[in-house]
Amino acid sequence: MEAEEQYIRAGKIAAKVREQIRGEVKPGVKAIDICERVEQMTRQLGGAPAFPCNVDINQVAAHYASPVGDQTTIQQGQLVKVDIGVHVDGYIADTAVTICLDPALTQMVKAAEEALAVAIKMVKAGARVSDIGATIEHTIKNRGFRPIRNLTGHKLSRYIVHAGRSIPNVAGYELHRLEEDEVYAIEPFTVLNNAVGEVRDGPPSHIYRFEKKRSLESAPKQMLAFIQQEYRTLPFCSRWVLTRFPGPDGQKAFADLLGARCIMGYPQLLEKSGGPVAQAEHTVIVQRDGCVVTTS
Ligand code: MN
Ligand code: MN
Repeated sequence: MEAEEQYIRAGKIAAKVREQIRGEVKPGVKAIDICERVEQMTRQLGGAPAFPCNVDINQVAAHYASPVGDQTTIQQGQLVKVDIGVHVDGYIADTAVTICLDPALTQMVKAAEEALAVAIKMVKAGARVSDIGATIEHTIKNRGFRPIRNLTGHKLSRYIVHAGRSIPNVAGYELHRLEEDEVYAIEPFTVLNNAVGEVRDGPPSHIYRFEKKRSLESAPKQMLAFIQQEYRTLPFCSRWVLTRFPGPDGQKAFADLLGARCIMGYPQLLEKSGGPVAQAEHTVIVQRDGCVVTTS
C-alpha cells in the first residue's frame, strides 16, 4: 500500500503522545498546557500536528482547542477528552483518550472503549459501515448508555482529516462498504441513558481552516501565506498563528482574514442536553482480512 509506512509512523507517534498525556491530565492542570505539551511531543517524535490538540471537557464532545492565554483548568469530577492528530508527510493518525475524573462515569468511558474494540474487529475489505454502526450502537446500549448519533468516524486521506466517507456510531441504511487500503478513524461517543445523544453547534472552538484567497492588505496577506504554507488543508488554531504573529497587529490581521472569509472557524460541538460525553478513537488501515490499527 502506498504511504503505509508514513501512516504507521504517524500512528506510533500519536499513540505514544496519547499514552504520555493520559497520565498528565489531572485536576489543576491547564488545558493550554495539555495542548502545548501534546503538540510539542508530536514534533519531538518527528511528526507534526494534523489538527490542534483538542481538550474537550464534560458536555463538549469535540472541537475545543485552547486560545492564547486560555485559563481553562482541569477539575476533579470532569470528563476530559484529549483528541490528538499527527501527520507524517500529510499521512494522518487520529486518536483520542477520555480521562475520567468522576468515578461515577468510569463505566460510560469503558462502553466507548469497548464499542471501539468491537468495531475494529469488524473492519475488513467489504465490511458494510452500517453493520459496524449497528454493532457500536448495540454494544453501547447493552451497557446502559447511548451513542451520539450525529458524530461519526471518518475516512482520512493525505492532508485531509474528513475525506468524505464516514463510519456511523448507530444503525442505519448506509450501504457503503470499506475498501482495502482505505484509512479510517473510528470514534464512538457515549452519553448517559437520559441524555439526548446528539451534538449541536456551540461557541467558537478557536479552530479554523483555510477557505479562499482574496486580495488583502499586506499584514493579513502575509498571515494567510503563512497559514497556507504551514497547514495547507489541515485545521489550525488561532493560538498557533497568533504566537507567530503576536500583539495587536497579529490580532487585527487575524480578524481581517475572518472578516474576508479567507479562513472559517469551527464551532465547539456540545451535547444537546448538556450531559457528559466520553470518546474513544483509533485509526485503522483496512486490509483484505482485517485491519492494522496504526494508533494502538
Ligand atoms: Mn480525533
Ligand atoms: Mn476523528
